Amino acid sequence: MSQTFINTWLRPEIKALTAYPVPDSTGFIKLDAMENPYDLADDADLFARHQTALSQASINRYPDPSAKILSKTLKKHMNIAPDCDILLGNGSDELIQLLCMACSSNEVIMSPAPSFVMYPMIAKFTHLQHIALPLDEQFELQTQACLDLIKQHNPKLIFIAYPNNPTGNLFDKNDLITLIKNTNALVVIDEAYYAYAKADFLSELAEFDNLVVMRTVSKVGLAGLRLGLLIGKTDIIAQFNKIRLPYNINSLTQISANFLLENFATLQRQTDTIIQQRAQLFSQLSEISAIKTYHTQANFILFHTPNAQGLFEYLLSQKILIKNLSKQPRLINCLRVTVGKPAENKIFITAVKDYYAQS
Ligand SMILES: *Cc1c(COP(=O)(O)O)cnc(C)c1O
Repeated sequence: MSQTFINTWLRPEIKALTAYPVPDSTGFIKLDAMENPYDLADDADLFARHQTALSQASINRYPDPSAKILSKTLKKHMNIAPDCDILLGNGSDELIQLLCMACSSNEVIMSPAPSFVMYPMIAKFTHLQHIALPLDEQFELQTQACLDLIKQHNPKLIFIAYPNNPTGNLFDKNDLITLIKNTNALVVIDEAYYAYAKADFLSELAEFDNLVVMRTVSKVGLAGLRLGLLIGKTDIIAQFNKIRLPYNINSLTQISANFLLENFATLQRQTDTIIQQRAQLFSQLSEISAIKTYHTQANFILFHTPNAQGLFEYLLSQKILIKNLSKQPRLINCLRVTVGKPAENKIFITAVKDYYAQS
């Protein structure tokens, strides 16, 4: 047979994709993926109580399909209004996919560029067209141009990372409200970095029927659990819940996340430390004359330097892994570093200074 699925029927846009690249980080100081650098075991008491909680999981049974206990804890923890509900996803990536799956084929969705790569990537998987909303030199929204594009293309979904990844900035809230008011699209405010920005759209949910908010526990220390949530008016959430796969949040995640949200003091202390460390790392990087830093409200810093590829490779040779964005169209010569533990940040800064002392 000469016709195979792969050579005949696989969609060309999937053939053309490259799978989301995750480099092997074994043995590296890992500052590439916006993780919380602290290990749960750093707090021995919390770790022991977490183990005890996990030991109660009945992994011979399917998980609670609606994750009732966890949902209740999340609503309390995030202060979700009574007329709103939440939808849990296996990471917020799954929620992005679920939102896209609810659109008809070939419809347009939008998000700023540069922003989170999963928006355009998932649009492809789900037979949608992605159109980029333009950002200016400082990565702020070009509001009028955005409004023109919205008018022209009538998007069904608009994803806004708030703060934006990989640029780190928070878009102007009034600009976003202007977009929300001038579109029929469902606007998804992706607050993955909420813990580091303390700005949010939860209180706007009451005001706009075309708004939902997305959060994740990944950036506050629980990336391994894969848990994201979509927050919106009860009737909106009920519709998207129909296309959620049953049992998408496994038992261990439900128990672990529930326990750690109820015992949040340690994670809170860690995010507070990361915010302090971010200020220090930002000023140290900014002092290096070859480097231009961009303002950030997230747990990472985007910076520009004339020989980004060279610096990136030098850091790799020193067993330090950051994110190389330097070949992306709007991010030529840009690198992104996640804020690590104080000792890790120090090794990173020293290595960067060493590189410029040599070259
Ligand atoms: C990291 C990130 C996510 C992904 O979160 P998961 O819950 O780990 O899937 C979503 N949106 C943005 C903007 C992110 O940076």
